[in-house]
Amino acid sequence: MDLDSWQQDLRADFPIFQSFPGTAYLDSAATSQKPRAVLDAVTGYLTTGNANAARGTYPWANRTTARIEETRDQLRRFLGAPEPSGVHFVSGATEGLRAVARDWLAPLLRDGDEIVVPYADHSATVLPWQEAAALAPGRVTLVPMPYDAAHDYDYTRLAELVGPRTRMIAATHVHHVYGNDMNIHRLRAAAGPEVPICLDAAQSVGHLPIALGTLDVDFLVFSGHKAMALPGTGAVWSRDVRGPAFAPGGWAGTPNTAGIVSLAAAMTWLDRAGLDRIEEWNRALATRITEALAKMPAYEVLGCQTSLADPAVQQRQSIVTFRHREIGSNDLGFILAGDDLLVRADGHCQGPRGEPTASVRVSLHVYNTVHEVDRLLHALSALDQ
Ligand code: PMP
Repeated sequence: MDLDSWQQDLRADFPIFQSFPGTAYLDSAATSQKPRAVLDAVTGYLTTGNANAARGTYPWANRTTARIEETRDQLRRFLGAPEPSGVHFVSGATEGLRAVARDWLAPLLRDGDEIVVPYADHSATVLPWQEAAALAPGRVTLVPMPYDAAHDYDYTRLAELVGPRTRMIAATHVHHVYGNDMNIHRLRAAAGPEVPICLDAAQSVGHLPIALGTLDVDFLVFSGHKAMALPGTGAVWSRDVRGPAFAPGGWAGTPNTAGIVSLAAAMTWLDRAGLDRIEEWNRALATRITEALAKMPAYEVLGCQTSLADPAVQQRQSIVTFRHREIGSNDLGFILAGDDLLVRADGHCQGPRGEPTASVRVSLHVYNTVHEVDRLLHALSALDQ
């Protein structure tokens, strides 16, 4: 099957686009739309076997507990996880990253320790390390992650910054503003064998195949709702080889059973669709936008542009962020919304070393079409003066 008909079949799986055929949803980095299989799995669960998990001994309860355990195994396979490893369900990347920082790292910190923090990444992968440092006894230094001019991590300088007191390196897989793959396969060599790495995979899970075996990180955190599952879903995967086992503190309470069912259905749907092809589709659309904007003088694309053709250097994934040189980004967002082009226009929750002013972010997923992208480009070119 060619890529176009493959994509058309997949798009037909999303009921929201049948309700709003003329609306181009271009904000999947904020949250994804949901395929029918996910909605059906949730309805099926709630109408035929809804019960609490890990308590109760009747069949619905046992079945719910079993589904949660099966979903943990499915997630390990989905991420290509080396065994043994832990999976903890959380409400999203924010909660997951805070749990790693507060529950795992903070009790291990001592006076004089250091944490490498990526200050130009999402605030959700900056603030938790500040919290952990504040909880620690004595003084813990937050060392800024070095970046190069293309917004990739500067692994040469990072290797020089890592020392015997480095207790954690926080990093992001795909940047939520610049859209670039941060070349995480190079991170372990720079970090050395001892330092734990916590990877924010909020913008990569569900968008491209994840091979934890080759990434060699200790924690991977993501939001299920950006990967076709329901809001309020996500997970922390932990490897437990560079320190104690990750065991989130506090009172666990009832898990998000319906959300975990949705996550299982989402992974099944993504696997069936093929993450290689999803990545290929999204990258092709993002490249189309980047290349068209490069020819429109009114626009400035943030992050990598020329290096798109050189995948060894940097790969743009499914996100393109830009500014109009005259029109404010918030105004541009309103103008585009008037044409049923739903983009994100603000500062994108970037950390303190992020962009100084707002921008417009277009973020794609496999349901987006070439026609939608061309509608966007047409609307933008009308303002290119
Ligand atoms: N990290 C990144 C890179 C993100 O893009 C986001 C979501 N915008 C988050 C973390 C936080 O995710 P959530 O809001 O689902 O907790």
